[in-house]
Amino acid sequence: MNKQTNPRESRPLRDVLENDLCIACGACVYACPASVITPTYHEERGAFEVTITDTNPCAGCPAPCVQVCPSIEVNFATLASAETEGTTCTREGPIRETWLGYSPAFQHNGVSSSGGIIRALIHDSLERGRPVVCLCEDGDGYAPTLLHQPEELDRVPGSIYHAVSFVKIVEVLREASEAVLLISTPCQLEGLYKYIQVTEPTLREKIALVVGLICGWMYTNHALHAFASYKQLGEPVINAQYRGEDKVGRLKLFTEQAKHSYDRRAFDNKSDYYDFRASFSSMANRLRCRLCENHLNVLADIAVGDAWLKRHPKEKLSIIVIRTRTGSDLMNHLQDAGKVQLTTAEATDLSESQSNNLVFGYEARQLNHKLSRKGVATPTFTFTTQDPPPPRAGRLLHILYDLEFHLRKVLRSGRYQTYRNWYPVYAKFKVILNKLGKLAR
Ligand SMILES: Cc1cc2nc3c(=O)[nH]c(=O)nc-3n(C[C@H](O)[C@H](O)[C@H](O)COP(=O)(O)OP(=O)(O)OC[C@H]3O[C@@H](n4cnc5c(N)ncnc54)[C@H](O)[C@@H]3O)c2cc1C
Ligand code: SF4
Ligand code: SF4
Ligand code: SF4
Repeated sequence: MNKQTNPRESRPLRDVLENDLCIACGACVYACPASVITPTYHEERGAFEVTITDTNPCAGCPAPCVQVCPSIEVNFATLASAETEGTTCTREGPIRETWLGYSPAFQHNGVSSSGGIIRALIHDSLERGRPVVCLCEDGDGYAPTLLHQPEELDRVPGSIYHAVSFVKIVEVLREASEAVLLISTPCQLEGLYKYIQVTEPTLREKIALVVGLICGWMYTNHALHAFASYKQLGEPVINAQYRGEDKVGRLKLFTEQAKHSYDRRAFDNKSDYYDFRASFSSMANRLRCRLCENHLNVLADIAVGDAWLKRHPKEKLSIIVIRTRTGSDLMNHLQDAGKVQLTTAEATDLSESQSNNLVFGYEARQLNHKLSRKGVATPTFTFTTQDPPPPRAGRLLHILYDLEFHLRKVLRSGRYQTYRNWYPVYAKFKVILNKLGKLAR
């Protein structure tokens, strides 16, 4: 939609859409009193987002769509659980305990993404009669789904790294007859909590506890399409799974006719490596992920991520951050019942497994600052206490950020074949750039 033809359209929301910042959380869809916001799939950008179908009702509307959008503004202190009131919300979020752990049951950790902790939590919840809402394959792709029976655990996928839509979450929660255990990524939760705060406060009573994924990136579907084209699959990819079998690191692509499986860690030759790296490239991602400052899911009761630690190089192990007493009680219950094995994490484990850059949002803040100065509308994230400001971006970093910004625009419009052709050259160049970038930081 463009500015001239739609003078009434809500400007900040249009900026979100134009700047490729929408993460399909669904908040604005349900907040709009005129129901003129609809979920869409943007073919060219390879991602789910929303469209404003009619701007006439926007004149004179107080624009709740803008008030709820987590790609415009998020104030973590105002959205935090009442249980954490009085605790300071740093960039790591409120922390009561941090654990390393896994589920000893193969049906949980054997098919999960890291230690199977989330699957163990879901199973326990369903066994005790508490419904669960999480992303599941619903025959038409992945969508938030209400589960009631322990047998339904089979429907739960491991991590899905390509674009998914969480838009239906409000509908699904309304459907639930009692409070649920909710599994969600940080930005999906930001959108949902903002929606609840502004529009439908009673919906918060439907959420007994949130288990949040720690989330560094969500790839767009460009990754899948690009990979399929490099591998000459000859037909479109209709679904993908990334782990979820005994073997960690397997990428499975499903087409109408076949299932194709690839190792994402051990490559037979350089060409396979380049095919993969050029497809699953952070450059082809939505800008929102690059500007995200909440990878650790500070609003969740329990946040779970992969524990990539030097002292545990090969184990399927999760890092678990407990933020509330309810979260603590639940994890103690699972441990007492022998459903998870936990050891206390060391103070530096969170940073080691996720990197300081993600934990403290250094690059996101540098890039955000740079883009704001250029006049690009970007999200504002407010934490109650600020950690030290990010290191100043030197001249070289500014050049790198500019390059990245423009390259992302090219790739996000689907022109990735040239990128793949040049990727071997770029990969060499990138090693040097990364080294220089580190020096510049
Ligand atoms: C897009 C994405 C990026 C991630 N990035 C990181 C990272 O940078 N660092 C890190 O430590 N961990 C990251 N993770 C989390 C990690 O991969 C594991 O999912 C997590 O450690 C839980 O593992 P598990 O074995 O306990 O759960 P699993 O048994 O693997 O269960 C995964 C749960 O997540 C839900 N889920 C899967 N994909 C999505 C999705 N796209 N949106 C919403 N819900 C979903 C499923 O419904 C299921 O409930 C990411 C996950 C995703 C989906
Ligand atoms: S301004 Fe009002 S009517 Fe227009 S899209 Fe936003 S919420 Fe809907
Ligand atoms: S509220 Fe959510 S779905 Fe709506 S524009 Fe913002 S990010 Fe997209
Ligand atoms: S990195 Fe941030 S914005 Fe991107 S999917 Fe994860 S939580 Fe959402």
